[in-house]
Amino acid sequence: MVAISTCRGCVVEGDNYSGFNACHYTGDDMAHVEGCRKELCKELGINRESLIIPRQTHSLNVAVVDTIPFDAEKLENIDALVTTLSGVAIAINTADCVPLVFADEVNKVIGVAHSGWKGTVGRIASKTVAKMIQCGASLSHIKVAMGPCICGDCFEVGHEVVEQFVNNGFDSSQVILNHYQPRPHIDLPQACRQSLIEIGIRDENIQFPTCCSRCNPHEFFSARRLGINSGRTLTVVMQD
Ligand SMILES: [Zn+2]
Repeated sequence: MVAISTCRGCVVEGDNYSGFNACHYTGDDMAHVEGCRKELCKELGINRESLIIPRQTHSLNVAVVDTIPFDAEKLENIDALVTTLSGVAIAINTADCVPLVFADEVNKVIGVAHSGWKGTVGRIASKTVAKMIQCGASLSHIKVAMGPCICGDCFEVGHEVVEQFVNNGFDSSQVILNHYQPRPHIDLPQACRQSLIEIGIRDENIQFPTCCSRCNPHEFFSARRLGINSGRTLTVVMQD
């Protein structure tokens, strides 16, 4: 199995798309986007049609990739993907939101999800897991890893966002960082962890991100730093 998040690579100051960007709906030139995708496919040893990237909308929709080629229309308004197919790379784009990679290596079911604050509050992680179980995965075997995303020190939010986490049953003492003034911060990876624990994923099967997208602008795209018209980090999972 392969699970990766891309780094920007060659960054040109002032060019918000410079480096590796495979996202087709945030304003980059399509020739650049397709060039990056082809390069990644070559690296993974797959055909272009086996790299599946949805158009994300901060929805809670999960698609099951069950055939190749996969109908592009089924990738609109989708924020998580699940597959049992080998040699098919499922991917999602992020720039500060949490990329979640899921794998049940025993039953050979994988998933990937985009969990921003809306997706996290709406439990996209548990929706992805539920779809994996429908595809044959078992809860006790599912491992989850979080890719580069915004850290608690960087993620300042409005009180209306905090309210969403409180109203939707998150443990505020761990997720809401009230010591930041005047506005609170949210620890998004911690919130993702809570949403996984509450459905029965084992804590030892959850891996936290190793770095922050906003703290490392030369390695990763950050919407907080660059604005939404910028490239994205691609997080990919594929099984042999
Ligand atoms: Zn940070």
